[in-house]
Amino acid sequence: MSQPIRLALVGMGKIAHDQHVPAIAGNADIALVATVSRHGDGIEGTPHFHDLDALIASGIAIEAVALCTPPQVRRAIAMQAIAQGWHVFLEKPPGATLAEVAQLQAAADAAGVSLFASWHSRYAPGVEPARAFLADAAIASVTVTWREDIRVWHPGQAWILEAGGFGVFDPGINALSIVTRILPRAFFVTEADLDFPANCDSPIAARVRFTDDAGLPIAADFDFRQEGPQSWDIVVATDAGTLTLHDGGARLVLPDGTEPSQSEALHGEYAGLYARFAAIVRTGESDVDIAPLRHVADAFLRGRRHVVEAFIE
Ligand code: NAP
Repeated sequence: MSQPIRLALVGMGKIAHDQHVPAIAGNADIALVATVSRHGDGIEGTPHFHDLDALIASGIAIEAVALCTPPQVRRAIAMQAIAQGWHVFLEKPPGATLAEVAQLQAAADAAGVSLFASWHSRYAPGVEPARAFLADAAIASVTVTWREDIRVWHPGQAWILEAGGFGVFDPGINALSIVTRILPRAFFVTEADLDFPANCDSPIAARVRFTDDAGLPIAADFDFRQEGPQSWDIVVATDAGTLTLHDGGARLVLPDGTEPSQSEALHGEYAGLYARFAAIVRTGESDVDIAPLRHVADAFLRGRRHVVEAFIE
């Protein structure tokens, strides 16, 4: 087996600690050789730097970076990494705008490095079996309900409700990453209602309608103010009955009530992401699908803006 890919993790916040560090530790193809973050000491036993300049100056040999900062600052860090000849793993969403991602893709291609726009929800265990089932189904409607409590899941993350932070589309883009994967045909936004708290520049709730060439109704309800039970569900009505993906894609229930064997659940979404990243680095490819980001951008373009109660954390 070849040597592990020497990777630095950048932006040591919640997702870096909760998911990236354990997923890298469980992948023999990747070695975590440094961490980068403005504050804190990273993780014990691994060299830590406060910015990419300091990492570069250290002379530590790096082949790849995984960027776990908020989206507003990801492009500049990614460009710096690509200029070093490093492969780049982008947390979702891959950028704050579509043009940023196009620039990163062009720069990565020119530098001959791999760029990975990761969509972790696509690696949830119910997603591929749902896609296989729907490939031949006559689909009648799709309903997405993605309602979670921002205070529980994102405490102290002020960037989410700032401009470029995506607001409720931070979780909502995960639903869109699944829907764009499981539906057999392309679809597009027809209307959107976006609720902006009086003191925020990103929406705290959104209702978005989509359709496709055949007139399929697709409705998405995204809300960051959900107290009590949380919902991350996608319901697809077909001529053969209703398919439901629960828990962000973790649990699939087919129309006959069966739940396909989901042994991949043992490995987790981030194990799948790092396996994919290692594979594309080895083969010299990039994997950049902007479809979920395009739908969010289109929801902003099509959206009616409503001002709602100020958000106080
Ligand atoms: P977070 O806890 O706020 O962590 C982000 C880290 O990035 C911060 O700890 C911060 O570390 C660094 N950072 C913040 N502002 C920065 C800036 N202006 N310049 C450079 N670095 C900055 O956020 P998170 O939840 O980990 O989310 C990060 C990304 O992962 C988001 O795109 C999110 O959508 C994605 N994600 C999150 C989750 C989740 O459940 N939380 C799940 C999947 C994906 P320093 O202050 O030390 O620099």
